[in-house]
Amino acid sequence: MKLTELFKTKTVFSLEVFPPKNEMSGSEIIPTLEKLRGVSPDFISVTLGAGGTEHSKGTVEVADFIQNKLKIPAVAHVPGLYLTKKQVLNLLDQLAEVHVNNILALRGDYIADKKPAGDFCHANELVEFIKKERPGISIAGACYPDKHREAASFVEDITCLKRKIDSGSDHLITQLFFDNQTFYDFKEKAEIAGINVPIEAGIMPCTNKRQIERITKVSGVPIPQKYKKMLDKYQDNKEALKDAGIAYAVEQIVDLVSQGVDGIHLYTMNHAEVAQRIWDETKTVFKAASKSF
Ligand code: FAD
Repeated sequence: MKLTELFKTKTVFSLEVFPPKNEMSGSEIIPTLEKLRGVSPDFISVTLGAGGTEHSKGTVEVADFIQNKLKIPAVAHVPGLYLTKKQVLNLLDQLAEVHVNNILALRGDYIADKKPAGDFCHANELVEFIKKERPGISIAGACYPDKHREAASFVEDITCLKRKIDSGSDHLITQLFFDNQTFYDFKEKAEIAGINVPIEAGIMPCTNKRQIERITKVSGVPIPQKYKKMLDKYQDNKEALKDAGIAYAVEQIVDLVSQGVDGIHLYTMNHAEVAQRIWDETKTVFKAASKSF
């Protein structure tokens, strides 16, 4: 089943993992993925560093394992900024060889002192290229409830997002956010702009204060005061911070699913135990919500 069809049948629950820096065999990723199978995700997406093709082997290998060993649909991230057209086609061919036909087409972030390849300045150009060259591939795109940090205004960001949809993105996955109202406001703006593809809400449970601070700094995502207080209060107690982070994510998810969100995309940071605990706390909600389809 195509991923877009899935959204017509249920409230989707998907996961994101990142590949190991070195060889896949012997790394922690295989036991992690095997544990994640217990969460019964609808798909698992695999990140790829923006820097070019040097890390794409790990992404292809992990996607292959998910798709063919775990028999769960895999989505490979493809950031185009530092890839040539030829490299993109080569990567898509490697993915097709292992039957991975779902991708998340991204621009990627700029790397200091590294010159972009020049073929894809924005994600919509990559989407258009892939739609033309490989029409059978299903393409997801990224979106930003708090606005992409480079966009001068929401109007500009949403106008660009609409262009990405018109180029052929079938569904969207949001950047992480900590205030659900931000997501509801964004969804309304997207709908007014005529964006009507499924939008999955990206949720990142906090397990590590420094990691969340680094990610929010790079992405420009604001941390609400109450979340900051939680981080400060439990920063020296790993277990308490993990429990509080999971509880916060569960509360966000239950509210989003109750309000009819198309799907939840959990940024697992390769923490299978955290994903399992969140699934255990929310699976009845997903199942009950899916009954109304
Ligand atoms: P774009 O859609 O190109 O948007 C970037 C900015 O340019 C926005 O401000 C937008 O408003 C503007 N814009 C868009 N199109 C145009 C246009 N045609 N003309 C002028 N302005 C335009 N990065 C990685 O390197 N690897 C990953 O695996 C990865 N996974 C991610 C997964 C998710 C779910 C998300 C939300 C992000 C991910 N990222 C990843 C980060 C992403 O690459 C960055 O957020 C990047 O800065 C923007 O990517 P984009 O695809 O949204 O870009």
